[in-house]
Amino acid sequence: MPFSKLGLCDSIVKALAELDYKSPTAIQVKAVPVILSGKDVIAGAQTGTGKTASFVLPLLQSLNKPRKLRGKRIRALILTPTRELAVQVEASIRQYGKYLNLSSMAMYGGVDSAPQIQQLIWGVDILVATPGRLLDLAHQRALHFDELKVLVLDEADRMLDMGFIDDINKIIDRLPTERQNLLFSATISDDVRTLAKRTLHDAVEISTTPDSSSAPKITQWLITVDKGNKSALLSHLIKEQEWQQALIFIETKHGAAKLVSQLEKRGIKAESIHSGRTQAIREQILSEFKSGAIKFLVATGIAARGIDIGELTRVVNYDLPDKADDYIHRIGRTGRAGLMGEAISFVSKDNFRNLCAIESRLGHIIERKEIEGFAVKKVVPVSILNYVPKNKPQRR
Ligand code: AMP
Repeated sequence: MPFSKLGLCDSIVKALAELDYKSPTAIQVKAVPVILSGKDVIAGAQTGTGKTASFVLPLLQSLNKPRKLRGKRIRALILTPTRELAVQVEASIRQYGKYLNLSSMAMYGGVDSAPQIQQLIWGVDILVATPGRLLDLAHQRALHFDELKVLVLDEADRMLDMGFIDDINKIIDRLPTERQNLLFSATISDDVRTLAKRTLHDAVEISTTPDSSSAPKITQWLITVDKGNKSALLSHLIKEQEWQQALIFIETKHGAAKLVSQLEKRGIKAESIHSGRTQAIREQILSEFKSGAIKFLVATGIAARGIDIGELTRVVNYDLPDKADDYIHRIGRTGRAGLMGEAISFVSKDNFRNLCAIESRLGHIIERKEIEGFAVKKVVPVSILNYVPKNKPQRR
């Protein structure tokens, strides 16, 4: 089906053609017409399925009317969990809206707010923001919501995981009651439903089983490994299998720095991003990773949230995440928009409960591979599926 059949105008269709988007993905086919009709939507969609375009395209179209841009006013607000995702979503708005006369801006904490305040004074049609900074600037009366028409909650589950619920509720309290609401979330948990109940009205629920052309094609496998052997195993795989690029997830910023130096001792150049690095450095490293100048990037889960790297072929869970949902998000960084991807997890005995939770969530056991020279002393048992974690995992 061509994009024009979704009811999108020529200017948007032209921009999509230039990006070489041949046809809409499953979530786009379902969501675009409903959003264009003005209805509220709750959509279960993971990153990598084309979910950003599924709300950005109809949003651009519905805002593309003659209007007077008033200072400090916005017409659409997209809330995202991280600054990286805010920057990416705003970049997509610019790409898809290339032939439209709409202004957009990404707003996030950790950087000087003065340029953001200035841009708001000029007026912004679509604001993509993280909740904390948005609330700060709203308190300072740097922006007003009286002309807001559309609210989008992107990666709602992550925002809740990251403890943004109070900020989100405070923001919603400031919005006009007459508005369209769109909620996107990889997982629709009870907490997400509670948020939806409070925010959406008569929402259409959309979920997709990704079609074969857009579904991430991710091969998952794991290697059981004794804890002390992980960095040697990683170096071995990089060299033996001649990896060209990998995003490597690790638990702590201290661990990230240590791993980079361990890799370098073995002649492998790597970089790290974590909360201890400035935003400017993180952005610089990310762009070098995207361009291929940096081949191996070690990232803590929080730093890597929302990263969209077009052709990333491999992610490594050097440390297995606490939560099954985090695992799903991480592996979704690869195999995007139909490309092939590989997700490899290092699992040691003390990860057993996390592994059970992840495999229960997937509904299947992940294939195990043995690497010669890395036999484990502490064996990891095969998981019990349908495992329900007893203790709430700790938040990092
Ligand atoms: P998302 O799920 O929004 O993170 O998008 C994943 C990737 O798919 C992004 O790199 C988009 O540029 C790309 N993408 C989105 N929609 C399409 C489409 N219809 N055809 C090809 N690529 C797409």
